[in-house]
Amino acid sequence: MKPHFTNIQFKLTLNALPTDRRMLWKVIPDKATRDQAPRPPCHICGGGEDSMEHLLGGGCPPVAQALHAYSTRIRIDLSHATTGGQNALASALLLWPQPHPQRAQAMTLFNCAVWFQRSQYFKLRPGTPATWRAPPSAWHWR
Ligand SMILES: [Zn+2]
Repeated sequence: MKPHFTNIQFKLTLNALPTDRRMLWKVIPDKATRDQAPRPPCHICGGGEDSMEHLLGGGCPPVAQALHAYSTRIRIDLSHATTGGQNALASALLLWPQPHPQRAQAMTLFNCAVWFQRSQYFKLRPGTPATWRAPPSAWHWR
């Protein structure tokens, strides 16, 4: 696995990926005001907040659907019930009771793909998820 991918997983583990919620302190420096402010919306679904808890914790429907489809295609079960993670986010963080190198590699690649798509496609796309046209049916995961 290329270091680029493990670097993203390492940053995920350290809560160092700059999601909009994570970087809210930069936009609203005052904590009391920041705590009252609405959370920045998810760039992928628009329904949740832009945070790793939402993206990889099972709260983002397109990402959860993609994880299921990816898991099925590669024939490696990445559901938290199988990994033994306490929940979907713990599973994404590789917090499993038993090590499983092949599963860890697959999960790391998935997490990186989500982060790259979120940062380099969805965040830069003009408009919001609510204003986007539905993609052609060939783009949907099966
Ligand atoms: Zn979402």
